[in-house]
Amino acid sequence: MTEKPQSFQAPLAAALQHAINHLTPESDLPVAAAADLATLRKKLSLPLDESGRDATEIIDDLVKAVEGGIIDSAGPRFFGWVIGGSLPAALAADWLTSAWDQNAGMYACAPAAAVVEEVVGGWLKDLLHLPPTASFALVTGCQMAHVTCLLAARHALLARRQWDVEKEGLAGSPPIRILTSTEIHGSTVRAIRMLGLGEKHIIGLPIDANGRLREDALIEALKKSPSIVVLQAGDLNIGAFDDFAKLIPIAKRHGAWVHVDGAFGLWCAASPRLRHLLTGADAADSWTTDGHKWLNVPYDCGYAFVADPQAHRASLSHRASYLTHASDARDQMDWNPEWSRRGRGFATYAALRQLGRQGVANLIERTCDHAHALVTRIGSLEGAEVVWEPQINQGLVRFRNPHKDPREGASATDNDTFTDRIIAEILASGEAFFTGTTWHGRRAMRVSVCNWQTSAEDVDRVVACVDRILHATRERK
Ligand SMILES: *Cc1c(COP(=O)(O)O)cnc(C)c1O
Repeated sequence: MTEKPQSFQAPLAAALQHAINHLTPESDLPVAAAADLATLRKKLSLPLDESGRDATEIIDDLVKAVEGGIIDSAGPRFFGWVIGGSLPAALAADWLTSAWDQNAGMYACAPAAAVVEEVVGGWLKDLLHLPPTASFALVTGCQMAHVTCLLAARHALLARRQWDVEKEGLAGSPPIRILTSTEIHGSTVRAIRMLGLGEKHIIGLPIDANGRLREDALIEALKKSPSIVVLQAGDLNIGAFDDFAKLIPIAKRHGAWVHVDGAFGLWCAASPRLRHLLTGADAADSWTTDGHKWLNVPYDCGYAFVADPQAHRASLSHRASYLTHASDARDQMDWNPEWSRRGRGFATYAALRQLGRQGVANLIERTCDHAHALVTRIGSLEGAEVVWEPQINQGLVRFRNPHKDPREGASATDNDTFTDRIIAEILASGEAFFTGTTWHGRRAMRVSVCNWQTSAEDVDRVVACVDRILHATRERK
């Protein structure tokens, strides 16, 4: 048995060296996984020892065992789903957060963490052009940010009907309908389920050609209440923004609670060039976004904002004699669904200080420019086409099977299969990572650029790679 206390020095020094080896561009690791499921299971499924082992040896072993199973999703040529990397200051602050190991549930057990979150909340509201009086919570991601915001929504809508939901529960309460577009993100659907509001009460309303919720459909649906209207700031396929200036006043006239899913799109408010996409969004009742996507803070980090702090607090706050509640300071458990929790404000604090206001705007605009270049340049290669030209950092392209002549009856399905095949070949090349989607019934390759490190050279390299792959498929019979 190793009863001897182990020091922190050696394992942390080993971890630092491994991290730097992983993060340095010179390593030029394949972007996609190189090891398969069976290999990873074989390497990692060790029998659990009776006695412990040396900490540094465990770290070195771990790094060997996971080799090929760490996707370079934090790197500059990862364009799958909507995933960001980590800014150096944010990553370093995140390491310290683990070293300090604060329980940031209350001021009494993590004073600096509470103050940092207070400061970060103010900075975020300012950058995202949200009302300065809004309350907020730093949660694990946009998923739990939806839950936090919609808890407040549920409280407020039912309180107006003299129903105390925290006390009575939902059985027998007036039903709440959720009005949204057909492009709603699944995380909102899951939040509705967790809150007991019931998926069948979600009404998916039609969109226009630009992916925006149609005004006439909303007006018709609002005739029955109470309702939560969920609008999108950036949907996951084409980055569509609902028309907030038009739709929010309509929803408010009908007494609805308006929630904005801005997992990544809300960051456009930080850019003078793109801010117009969010005109009128500040009149909503709640907003969610992520730190771990476009801001490039390590996982896990999301933000919830609520215009009515009283409704937010009433839905979550709890008092107990063994806890030490602050009178002046911020107790996160008044605003957060978690009890014990990580001091996740430190990483955001560091990220925002590393970038500054200009740096945030620049990150948002630069990644949009790279997304635009990737989509238009890949789309103009022989055998490719642009499906959606990015207005922000999301776009779509599609590939045509060169061996199926349209005049000889090549079907759209052939090109669907071919598009998925090209995506797989790009992943196999190790050069870049893209994911597929079905948009308006057809397969497409999503191009999503969120990483602070992506450069013009990365764009050139990826376009050349796709060109090579398309060329090789034409040659191959
Ligand atoms: C990623 C995403 C979410 C969910 O966010 P998590 O941080 O993964 O919980 C919600 N909505 C949209 C539009 C997203 O892209």
